[in-house]
Amino acid sequence: MKLSKIAVFTSGGDSPGMNAALRAVVRAARYYGIEVEGIYRGYEGMIDDDFVPLDERSVARIVDKGGTIIKSARSVAFKTKEGRQKAFDNLKKHQIDALIGIGGDGTFRGLHAFNLEFGMPVIGLPGTIDNDIVGSDYTIGFDTASNTAIEAIDKIRDTATSHNRLFLIEVMGRDAGFIALRSAIASGAKAVMLPETHTEPSELLAKIKQSGLNKRKTSNIVIVSEGNKNGNASELAEELKSMDDSFDIKVTVLGHIQRGGKPSAYDRLLASRLGVGAIEALRQGQNDIMVGVRNEKLAYTPLEKATKEHHRLQDEMLHLIEILSI
Ligand code: ADP
Repeated sequence: MKLSKIAVFTSGGDSPGMNAALRAVVRAARYYGIEVEGIYRGYEGMIDDDFVPLDERSVARIVDKGGTIIKSARSVAFKTKEGRQKAFDNLKKHQIDALIGIGGDGTFRGLHAFNLEFGMPVIGLPGTIDNDIVGSDYTIGFDTASNTAIEAIDKIRDTATSHNRLFLIEVMGRDAGFIALRSAIASGAKAVMLPETHTEPSELLAKIKQSGLNKRKTSNIVIVSEGNKNGNASELAEELKSMDDSFDIKVTVLGHIQRGGKPSAYDRLLASRLGVGAIEALRQGQNDIMVGVRNEKLAYTPLEKATKEHHRLQDEMLHLIEILSI
């Protein structure tokens, strides 16, 4: 395929490491003599013609920055045929030969639809803290977000231990429990409530009582993924209190701190590999795929597959919680 100029954008929920991915895409393109346009605000900017030429210097000093310097957005208009037509007209106007989108499964659905409709070559890079993308063991931002959660949980642990309290800590993850499971294991939580599995509040209560707040165990921390089937952490707390009012239950919602901050070494490296991988995949003529890592190697997955299937939690990890929380 002709590859004189590409466009790159970040879209959907932002994640730490998106800047490092952007930098890698731009630098790899420039390395191979390809011109680059950045598109502000994802699909919104594509429709509004909000483009900016980027060269290797435009992406200096961003490898360590959270967020995304070209901004992200959600776009209702891009879900319509007219919106996508406008976006395509703008890409043609800027003589774009291929498009690279950094985002989650929504972003990939948009890329795939766009490729089918207009034949524009597209590549997706998994940028989301949720780690919920099939075809990559890790997504850009997940490592940083879970480290942030763990750091916060460790701090709550100190105060929980001093007061004999039960803490319900809500972490992000509406449809996927990767942050919850990882941070629960790494912080030594008593239990984890996940969107993928169902634990009745009564079972949770029994588990907490069994080790006994009144025995030697002096603190209990339960990690609650926001999308778990019992509702959010506050709702779960109410339910537990209604069953047994002897507990002093405290709820902490970690919220958007999980989205921000400097990307970890792992995320910077992952983003750098995937960014370079995207340009090299285009040069090999690959199209309509996502670049990810599996078993520590670059791996290419059709975008359609990446959007249709669910990234499953490893059973072995679920098993760990059972054993380690006695
Ligand atoms: P994420 O990429 O983080 O999953 P979203 O689900 O919000 O975030 O998706 C980002 C954007 O991708 C949406 O705002 C929309 O513009 C676009 N998009 C999502 N699904 C489709 C689709 N089926 N067709 C076209 N565009 C889509």
